[in-house]
Amino acid sequence: MSEHLMNTYARLPVRFVRGEGAWLHDSEGRKYLDALGGIAVCALGHAHPAIREALCDQAGTLMHTSNLYEIPVQAELADRLTADLGMERAFFCNSGAEANEAAIKIARLYGHRRGIDLPTVVVMEGAFHGRTLATLTATGSRRVQAGFEPLVQGFVRAPYNDLEALRVIAENSPGVVAVLVEPVLGEGGIVIPDDDYLEGVRALCDEQGWLMMLDEIQTGMGRTGRLCAFQHTPVRPDVVTLAKALGNGVPIGACLARGEAAETFAPGNHGSTFGGNPLACRAALAVMETLEKDNLPGRAAELGRRILHGLRDRLEGVEGVKEVRGAGMMLGIELDRPCGELVRMALQEGLLINVTAERVVRLLPPYILTDDEAEQLVQGVSDLVKDFLAQERAA
Ligand SMILES: *Cc1c(COP(=O)(O)O)cnc(C)c1O
Repeated sequence: MSEHLMNTYARLPVRFVRGEGAWLHDSEGRKYLDALGGIAVCALGHAHPAIREALCDQAGTLMHTSNLYEIPVQAELADRLTADLGMERAFFCNSGAEANEAAIKIARLYGHRRGIDLPTVVVMEGAFHGRTLATLTATGSRRVQAGFEPLVQGFVRAPYNDLEALRVIAENSPGVVAVLVEPVLGEGGIVIPDDDYLEGVRALCDEQGWLMMLDEIQTGMGRTGRLCAFQHTPVRPDVVTLAKALGNGVPIGACLARGEAAETFAPGNHGSTFGGNPLACRAALAVMETLEKDNLPGRAAELGRRILHGLRDRLEGVEGVKEVRGAGMMLGIELDRPCGELVRMALQEGLLINVTAERVVRLLPPYILTDDEAEQLVQGVSDLVKDFLAQERAA
């Protein structure tokens, strides 16, 4: 690998040269079942014909003009996302961290409008919101923050899935203006909160005049079985952030808002040169059309259930396996020990998986998996986890 790349990733020694559906091919002619999808990005798999056609057409027509002019595909994407999610306005950017930055700026403007000089956003332990200074501050992991002090002011932290802790904050922290929370912790280890958690957060936000801001960057775009995870509940947030699967690999993020939150920005408050350009928006529109046409959120729900049951059948009760859990195509196998080694073992077997929060095997497969591929995934991952645990016992 080039020594001219900054040392930000410990990369695995494999070079992918081509992808097709749920499969990646490396420079040595080996193929791999991709159960990570570029970290929840390639929900429609690799080289999807609908995305390819839309991109080729748009690249040959118009890629970029800047937001100084009207952009019809951007407007169309905003109309579609807001209609499908019960929101009112969209701001487009280029990544998840930027979408959360927009949300945090909305919360601060909203606070200042209410006469709050030091507006504070409640964030969660175990949360991941990105790597910019504000979003790494919002992230609930010291590893992400260490060395980047001074952190950004205006955040207070609560344990995840703990409504009582939020109530205590409401009583003791007068400057709170918003809660920023993931419907399921992704990087934090596929942690699924109680069924009534989001409703409880919504009720408290209503009572306190706080904005409810959902980070759906990993859970969104059909991953949990609905376009956004909050749609499994009666809750409607004030702000939703999206990125990852929104462009299926073309960088695009979105911050959606409704009500007062949708009316905070005025020209000059926020912007992005690339954000919402015709190429990225065309990709996202093709993603949305494909999700709807092929009912892929429904397929994600069904396949996710099947994979979850398959993994539970084979792994529950195995010594060293603490819990197998999932929400659609977001699946986690929590072990009782660090298991980063499994990523390399899987690679050798032609399987791409991830380990997060040290002990949780994370699967974020594309929704276009066939039944056979899903079965292959269940079998492959179960065997690997068992081999890993057996080898640990022998050592
Ligand atoms: C990946 C992720 C982000 C950050 O997205 P980037 O595109 O890497 O900036 C933020 N929030 C959640 C929940 C994520 O999973």
